[in-house]
Amino acid sequence: MNLPASAGLSFSSAAERMFQYNESEVLGEDISMLMPSPDRERHGRYLNNYLETGERKVIGIGRLTNARRRDGSIFPIDLSIGEAYGTEQRIFTGFIRDLTETRNRERRLQDLQHELAHVSRVTAMGTLASALAHELNQPLTAIANYMEASADLVDSTDPQDRDMLREAVGEAAGQALRAGEIIRSLREFIQRGETDRQSESLRLILNEGAALAFAGMDSSGIDFDLLVPSDADHVLTNRVQLQQVIINLVRNAVEAMQERQGRRLRISSKREPDGKIRISVEDNGPGLSPDIQKRLFTPFNTSKARGMGVGLSICQTIVEGHGGRIWADRSVLGGMAFHFTLDPCEEADND
Ligand code: ADP
Repeated sequence: MNLPASAGLSFSSAAERMFQYNESEVLGEDISMLMPSPDRERHGRYLNNYLETGERKVIGIGRLTNARRRDGSIFPIDLSIGEAYGTEQRIFTGFIRDLTETRNRERRLQDLQHELAHVSRVTAMGTLASALAHELNQPLTAIANYMEASADLVDSTDPQDRDMLREAVGEAAGQALRAGEIIRSLREFIQRGETDRQSESLRLILNEGAALAFAGMDSSGIDFDLLVPSDADHVLTNRVQLQQVIINLVRNAVEAMQERQGRRLRISSKREPDGKIRISVEDNGPGLSPDIQKRLFTPFNTSKARGMGVGLSICQTIVEGHGGRIWADRSVLGGMAFHFTLDPCEEADND
């Protein structure tokens, strides 16, 4: 019998399953039948070239290529070919690994990666959107209040009313500018991961922040202390962002104390042994339930019917963006104490 140069001599049962041929159909046939075009047509040339020149393209090297099943379908394989010398002929053994599953896995992995990239973009946008919605609520409520008061005063000719009207409109304009600053500083923060910082007086900013927080809620009758010693007054900070932190912490404290008689709020600063300035906001509310405590700074963690649960995570982002840290424990006043650290501004201390 005149066998082709690369006639099949044996065909394993694994190969039978992979190619859908029985061994008897392959034995004695040219094994190019297991290859798709163009390898199928070129196979004889490849083999002759190797036999004549000894130049190896696949043998002993291995390569990723395609194979062809009985039904004509093509599948990816990892092919390595071993060579042995018999007494009369050379025998080549092909070891074939079907890569269909591997390729599918790679494709699935790629799909997952695309999905993940999409999800993290959506999450970043969602976090930004909810942070903006949360932070803009305060100036918008204040503007609405000032405008309502203005509407009541606008027809009055009483000079005192005219003064109040002027003041209310001015305050509303100030709050609108503040809203703009919040958007700008948040956008800067997201884009660059940092914001402009300068020397600021804590006494001023903590006072302003508390006043802004009190403006939009029932804060009457709260016993409020502000304790800022002069060695813990000047910090390096972004004014708008520090106000945002204070507004969030003060609003939380006031909301927590809602049911209390004799409500107490204390904001204080203190120089730490490592030179940083620690700011604390303390209340005499009920403290925290353990399940909230565990995920306190995680977004969307809230105990309030109308809460968004992003206030503390915004505070954390801002404080950490300043190189500080934020944490909570029990206050000597009986409720919660929220603490965070900022860098001091030494030059300002020497003023
Ligand atoms: P939100 O105020 O929208 O719920 P926050 O992230 O600001 O979101 O707060 C998360 C939760 O932490 C609150 O729902 C509340 O349960 C708890 N919390 C925050 N501050 C205090 C506080 N001073 N006293 C008691 N619980 C607090």
